[in-house]
Parts: sequence; C-alpha cells; structure tokens
Amino acid sequence: MKEYSKLSAAEIIAGLKKGSFSAVEICHEALSAAKNIGHKLNAFITITEGKALEQAKALDQRMERGDTSGALFGVPLAIKDNICLSDYPTTCASHILDGFVPIYDATCVQKLNEADAVIIGKTNMDEFAMGSSNENSYYGAVKNPFDNNLVPGGSSGGSAAAVAAGIVPIAFGSETGGSVRQPAAFCGIYGLKPTYGAISRYGLVAFASSMDQIGSMARNPYDLALAFGVACGRDSSDSTSVAFDHPNYPQLMTTNRKFTFGIPREYFGDGIDPDVSRNIDEVKKLLQKDGHKFVDISLPHSPLAIAVYYIIADAEASSNLARFDGVRYGRREKDEDLIAMYRKTRSAGFGMEVKRRVILGTYVLSAGYYDAYYLKAQQVRELIRRDFENAFQEVDILMTPTSPTAAFRIGEKISDTLAMYLSDIFTAPANLAGIPAISIPCGTVSDGRPVGLQLMATAFGELSLFQAAARLDKIKG
Ligand code: GLN
Repeated sequence: MKEYSKLSAAEIIAGLKKGSFSAVEICHEALSAAKNIGHKLNAFITITEGKALEQAKALDQRMERGDTSGALFGVPLAIKDNICLSDYPTTCASHILDGFVPIYDATCVQKLNEADAVIIGKTNMDEFAMGSSNENSYYGAVKNPFDNNLVPGGSSGGSAAAVAAGIVPIAFGSETGGSVRQPAAFCGIYGLKPTYGAISRYGLVAFASSMDQIGSMARNPYDLALAFGVACGRDSSDSTSVAFDHPNYPQLMTTNRKFTFGIPREYFGDGIDPDVSRNIDEVKKLLQKDGHKFVDISLPHSPLAIAVYYIIADAEASSNLARFDGVRYGRREKDEDLIAMYRKTRSAGFGMEVKRRVILGTYVLSAGYYDAYYLKAQQVRELIRRDFENAFQEVDILMTPTSPTAAFRIGEKISDTLAMYLSDIFTAPANLAGIPAISIPCGTVSDGRPVGLQLMATAFGELSLFQAAARLDKIKG
C-alpha cells in the first residue's frame, strides 16, 4: 500500500473495493496518526475511536457481502468541534460547553454516515469559530504542520492541520468569514466555502447565522468536490438550506471549458505580500496560456467588507451566544441568585475574544447605535452583494489571493486585534454576499510557506470552481 498519509479519498475507496486493505486497517492508520502527529499539532479535541472502529468493522462485514456502495465508503474524516456528533462532546473549543454531549447528529454528519464515511475525530478550532489563527481555543493553539512555529490559520485550524499532515484525506470545517479558506491557504491544501444554503446548518453551533456555512477541506480538488457533493442539499431541519441540482461533481470536473476570469483591482492594493501577488500572477499566466481570458474588474465596495463583516458577525454572535447561560448547556458556576449565576458562568466560561465580540455586538444593536452601525452595515452588505452580481454578468470566476500574507508565527498577531481581523479581508466578501469560494494551493513565498489562491463564483456555481481548480491542478503538473 502507498503510504497512508498520501492516499486520497478516491484511492482509499478504490483500494477497499479491490481488497488491497480493509476499512478497519485504514481506520487504525487514521486513528494512530491522529494520536501521534495529531497530538503534536494539537489538532484534535476528541478522538472518536469507539464509534469509528465500530463503523469500520460494519463496513468490512458489508464488503464481504460485496456491498461497497457509499460515496465515501471507508474514508476516514475529521469534523470541526462545532458540528454535533451524538455520544461525544461538542466543545466549540470553549470552557462554557464543558460536559455538553449532543444527543443527535448534525445533518451533515448524518449524510456522511449514510455515505459510509468514518468520522475519527473532532478538531480543534478558535472558540465558537471566532478567530483567524486558532490561538483562541480553550484547548490551546494548533500548530501548522508545515512549520510548528506557525499558526495553521483559523478558525478551522485543526481540520486544516489534520488534512495537511495526512491524518485524514478530508475534513469539514465551518465558515463565517473565511475560516475554511484561510486555514486551507496557510496549510497548503484546498478549502471550499459553499454557497449560503448549500449545506444544512442543522447541528452546526451558530456563530453568525446569516453567514455560517459548513465547508470541506482536502488535498486535491476531486476529494474536495466529492465531500461537498455528499454533504450538500436541502434539509427540512434547516429552513435556510436550498434544493438545487448537484451533479456528481468529480465526474464533471475534467473539461476543456475556457473561463473568463475577473481580477478585482481592489484586492491587489497595499498590505499584500509581494510574494503572494507574484504567485497569483504566475497562475494567471499559466491559465492565459491555456486559453482562458482575463479581464480587469472593479468591486468598489469590497474594501468595506471587514468593517461590515465584524459589525454583522458580532451582532449575530451576541444574540446566538445568549443561550449559553449555565442553564441550558454545559458548565454552570454557583452563585446566590439567578443573575449572579448567569454572570459568573459567562464570565468564567467564555474566553477574551468571545467576550469582546458579545460586548461589541450588543453595542451595535443597542438603541441609539443600531441605525448608525448595524443598519448601515446591512445596507453596505447589499452594495457588496450587488458588486458581485454585476461582476458575474461579465466574468465566470473572480480570482484573488485568499489572504494578504502566508501563515504568520504563533503569538505574532494575538495582541493586535485589527491586524488579526485583516487576515479575512479577501474572504469575508463572499460570506457577506453568500457566494461560493474556494482556496487553492498555488505556490509558496520565498521561505517556502504555502500561498492560497481564491476563486469565487456566482451562487451555486461550485461546479465552475471545481472545474477551474482541476484544470489548474492539471496544467501545473
Ligand atoms: N476570522 C473570522 C472571524 O474571526 C472568520 C471566522 C469564521 O469564518 N468562522 O470572525
């Protein structure tokens, strides 16, 4: 067998069907990688060994009867620890959820189980998915597998690290403002933020509900698309999920289609590492040589996206996180009366960044400030969305860097909130507009740190993103 850590999901499925190895053998490989390298990277909060082995055994029994039907048959997966999996804790990397064990599976988990995937663990993350470096975790920072002094990005840093380190071929994270794409870029893998409504959010702990989406991560574009295809679709438990045509993506990805790419000039200004732009330029040249067209585009309101994103995300978070009160979920501190108990529980249970956001969010929603901040932000959000709508009249795909820089050092930005927030400057617009976007590994800066390229498409245009990613993968060789 080829070294386990290098096997793609497609290769694992093919190997199982051929009988080259069993589901239990593959599951053991993933579990031991999670316990060894995963432990060094601090990538997992919980390893779900019992359930995983049970599932793998059942798959082997089915294989004996010649049944290998699931689209992810026997593939070991990891999911971010804000996605509910019954019988194991869901912590959101927060102290306040100590002891919380969901009694149901998220719809996404249900679909993965139905496709015969084997979930081997719950990954570390920024607390309640608030962060860009995975340093805001009650369980400690995650390390970037490329260089352990670097952050893996956030908030889905554990999922990105698990995929990049070869522990699992596919992992799921969540996105509100870039939390799948930015860590994918920092760790040198592929990451997808799907169209808003494409994957059910039922069982995903809410951060900012008008933007939250579950997204997939993988080491190649085919596995990425395969994972998305399994998880997506309308779900009656999530009224924001949408019924749409979702073909067998991996089968349709190899095409000779020529795309028109737009380069939004607002995304190439100050603050971007010249090494990052150089990599994007090289990709552009490769694609031009392959016959694709490039046009200059303007998205005039995108520079406002960070301000708008942090007002809306914090406002929604302040409301969503009100439910963690020491009564309904997890941890409870003791005090004399109810209000004192609430206060003590929330004060001891939430970390600094979560508190900052709840306070800011409450402020922008309060009487007198609502019109000036929250309402204004919603109006500008609509302008940002319309810019994209106009751009997609002219182009198929927009191309930008995923993040202005490559991975930074652990500790480097933790005390500079604004610098940290600026990591999301190129990713947040797609969340505000609800459109799909993908991060593709596209080279390195001079010291070898991975760089990510972002492609964005119109709503439910995931297929175009997968096709462009597959084409690029092919021509890069
Ligand atoms: N880094 C952004 C934030 O801190 C995005 C987080 C996310 O997408 N969940 O809000």
